[in-house]
Amino acid sequence: MAKPKQLAIIGLGQFGTGVAKSLIQKGHDVLVIDKNERLVNEFRDTATHAVACDATDDKELKALGIKNFDYVIVAIGENIQASILTTLILKDFDVKNVWVKSTNDYHTKILEKIDADLVIHPEQDTASRLVRQLINGHLLDYIELSNDYSIVEIKPSKQLCGETIATIDLRGKYGITLIGLKYEGQIDINPSPDYELCKQNVLILLGHKKDIARFKKAVI
Ligand code: ADP
Repeated sequence: MAKPKQLAIIGLGQFGTGVAKSLIQKGHDVLVIDKNERLVNEFRDTATHAVACDATDDKELKALGIKNFDYVIVAIGENIQASILTTLILKDFDVKNVWVKSTNDYHTKILEKIDADLVIHPEQDTASRLVRQLINGHLLDYIELSNDYSIVEIKPSKQLCGETIATIDLRGKYGITLIGLKYEGQIDINPSPDYELCKQNVLILLGHKKDIARFKKAVI
């Protein structure tokens, strides 16, 4: 079973508030952050932690222990510079899943270049839909993330069965991120590098379509 997820939402505009409220309603522990104290105060009684700070200040984020979070959703929209800086800091901290709301095509391109793990297009991805993806692990809806990026589910080939996640080295060899591993209907979002793949597994992969194709060609 996947361990409980640590979730943080940065930016409490319409989208961030929607995501945070839905997650809290479903009983999840959520840290919310916004530089606007009034917005943060609205979550004082409901969120696990509600903090007013500037997310572009790496020391503040570090002090909040953001490094240990499984998912950080950056929902700073209009202030593109702040969105990009925050994303860079989170990626530098090696946060596992940095999901970032994009405002326009240029914003999307930059977020992809700096390796945001998922670029959210609010016009397509409503807050409640995103939360459903996060919670249920029904990630297949996200097959078309953008023209270049996709999420796919792949069953390991015979060649891969018995190999560990570490030896397959998806990120090093193919630039692909393993975002989850399914086994008998359960999803583990943080499988151990020593985990040995078997034919009952389904790999949930995020990557550039070309890289996913390259991986499939090589081993599937
Ligand atoms: P939406 O379109 O979803 O309403 P907005 O772009 O209007 O999103 O809101 C973004 C939120 O992010 C605002 O509440 C704003 O205060 C917050 N925000 C902007 N910059 C920062 C920052 N550097 N640190 C923390 N929060 C920020």
